[in-house]
Amino acid sequence: MLGAAMLIFACTPKDLPFLTVSHDSLTFEAEGGAAQTLIISSNSEWTMTPTESWIHVSPSAGSGNGTASVITDVNGTTDQRSGKINVTLVATNTTVAVNIIQQGVEVREIVPNPAKFDGTKRSSTTYQLLIYSFADSDGDGIGDFKGIQNKLDYLDALGVTALWLSPAHPTSSYHAYDVNDYSTVNPLYGTEADFRALIDAAHDKGIAIYMDYVLNHSGSGHEWFKAACSDPESPYRDYYVFSDNPTSDAAAGKIDNYGGGKTNGGMGEWHEITIGDAGYKGRLHFKVDWTGSTKYVTVTETTEAAQKSNPSATRWLWIGSSGNVGLYETATNIFEITLDVNTDWGFLVRSSNSDSWPSGTKYGAPAGSGPIKFGEKFKLDNSSSCGDITFGGSKSYYFSSFSGSMPDLNYGKYTDCENSPAFKAIAATADRWIKEFGVDGFRLDAVIWIYQNQTAANQRFLQQWYDHCNATYKAAGHQNEIFMVGEAWEGHGTEKQYYKGLPSCFEFEYWGALQKALNGSASSYASTVIGYLQDHAFERTGGALSATSLHMTNHDQNRAASDLGKDLAKEKQAAAMLLTTGGKPFIYQGEELGYWGVKDNGDEYVRTPIMWDKAGKDCAKKGVNNKVDNNMLTAAISVESQDADESSLLNVYRTWSRLRNTYRELYHGSMEKTNAVTGGGNSIAAWEMSFDWEEMLVIHNCAKSASTVSVAVSMDNPVALLGTATVKGNSLTLGPNSSVVFKIR
Ligand code: MG
Repeated sequence: MLGAAMLIFACTPKDLPFLTVSHDSLTFEAEGGAAQTLIISSNSEWTMTPTESWIHVSPSAGSGNGTASVITDVNGTTDQRSGKINVTLVATNTTVAVNIIQQGVEVREIVPNPAKFDGTKRSSTTYQLLIYSFADSDGDGIGDFKGIQNKLDYLDALGVTALWLSPAHPTSSYHAYDVNDYSTVNPLYGTEADFRALIDAAHDKGIAIYMDYVLNHSGSGHEWFKAACSDPESPYRDYYVFSDNPTSDAAAGKIDNYGGGKTNGGMGEWHEITIGDAGYKGRLHFKVDWTGSTKYVTVTETTEAAQKSNPSATRWLWIGSSGNVGLYETATNIFEITLDVNTDWGFLVRSSNSDSWPSGTKYGAPAGSGPIKFGEKFKLDNSSSCGDITFGGSKSYYFSSFSGSMPDLNYGKYTDCENSPAFKAIAATADRWIKEFGVDGFRLDAVIWIYQNQTAANQRFLQQWYDHCNATYKAAGHQNEIFMVGEAWEGHGTEKQYYKGLPSCFEFEYWGALQKALNGSASSYASTVIGYLQDHAFERTGGALSATSLHMTNHDQNRAASDLGKDLAKEKQAAAMLLTTGGKPFIYQGEELGYWGVKDNGDEYVRTPIMWDKAGKDCAKKGVNNKVDNNMLTAAISVESQDADESSLLNVYRTWSRLRNTYRELYHGSMEKTNAVTGGGNSIAAWEMSFDWEEMLVIHNCAKSASTVSVAVSMDNPVALLGTATVKGNSLTLGPNSSVVFKIR
């Protein structure tokens, strides 16, 4: 009861009918609340009549002394309202008015009051980092280990607990997925000592290191592959998938680690290669016969004088490192030259001198043909499958899922893969990183293609690989299990099957679900993601380690900001949603700064270096061959600028990451559907995060306008806010792209 005062109304003389009522006014809160009492003193009959329908009094009439109980309906508006109860002495028709006042609903702005972060990171948030473009420490423009170490404070403030590093090994490419030596590090990135120092410094900040391991293929520059190609008797022939006749060998089931290439999964190709020495060094005479529909070349060893290239030739040899050499027409459609030759691969005949290779201008050896024989006519082929004309060696083919520069590794029959030489050799290198360097886990590239899209084979392979690495990890003294996440880039139905082999896989459908929500269709987000998470119990260790890895995009996809139309409000909400969702979140380098980019002009444009300060110091542009979008990579997007702006995307990431590191409901809890939030339409995504008896309510309004929902639990303890939110009674109004988290238990 609020603000009551007493009124005494008197009738005289003493024996005449009289009436007094206390109080003269009653005040109610917006929700009505408990009944309040009026005390009537009288010697006669009286009545009570409210002037407003929301005022209720009982009894409505009486005689002599008595009491009456007053209640009000709920006032759903923000305005205070008032009315009266008229108390009438029947005998004299004299009325006393009691004022009834009811307050309006209080509207209060949500002001988050999270528990103070104690500095201990507990979430399992991983940062996908591209070594070549993260930070350059030595001024060569290429990212390096020391550059990363110098920026560990940045990663610490971002709340990340692990780094997934792009492949650290020697390579022939900038992206490094063609590994030329698994046993050491790329000297462009620093020394092994630098790598070890980075790992130690990261561990000091509670940041684990996951290496990217490419098990499906090596680079064609790997010594194993070079040895396999130089000698048909090389033991390294077993490390790769070779066949002299792929079609018949595959049909006969003679190729163990091969799922049929293009006919099974749409990827993969056989590449012709000469095994042994294909080249020649010495003086040779070439005679090309262009007189008939079939063209021939005849090569003979000679001591006659060598000639120079004919500058007005119409036919050429493409040979060794000499490039195009013009032939002399010695009779109609007969072209000849004598040359000093130094080639390690052979030669081709060409009918064009263009720098490019116009279609139909290349004449080589028919598929499957062996080397030329000196003095004998050799038939030329100008179909797309023609190969180099060689002087020695033998023709064979190797299989690659991705490109000729990435020959697939061969692990033999999957039932015995762990005993294959390639498995043992690569596992030994992994052991070294675990034992000697303290690496905490691996991200495994392209696991679907190890046995080309053959799920059961890949499952068993990955089980063997995981168990091997985990045993090494345990032997190194760790109590927990090693972490491993697979790139099983397939639909959820296939991807989830890889949990038979690995504790974590990337859920590639997640970004689609998150985008759908951010585009305003959010009501199914929670149930969709819960579905992904529930499907992913690691089937071999009781689920203790298992966590679904969730990311927006990675180095092989258009940037999240581009997918979101560079809408900063959506980018901020994407961060808030990812970091309040169950599973294991991954942040991809530059996402926290709002980097955009699409793959159309090259993958480098989605792998942009970090702009550390407004001047661009430490910016590793050369790591992506200087292929950067300078319209984006400006001072405004730099870490320095976003540091200073409290509302920047970077600071949104930091805030929500800190939240995830503070509350165990978020970092360790399970994501569950909620019945506590109703209304608001399709733009609302709401769920609960719970751990033991603790519980949080997470609500995101993904609309571009405000939305109001009813909330059936207490909103007294908000711990996070993005955008704006107000509470009125049990109604919550969230502004455009606004998010709020309440601690509810
Ligand atoms: Mg460098």
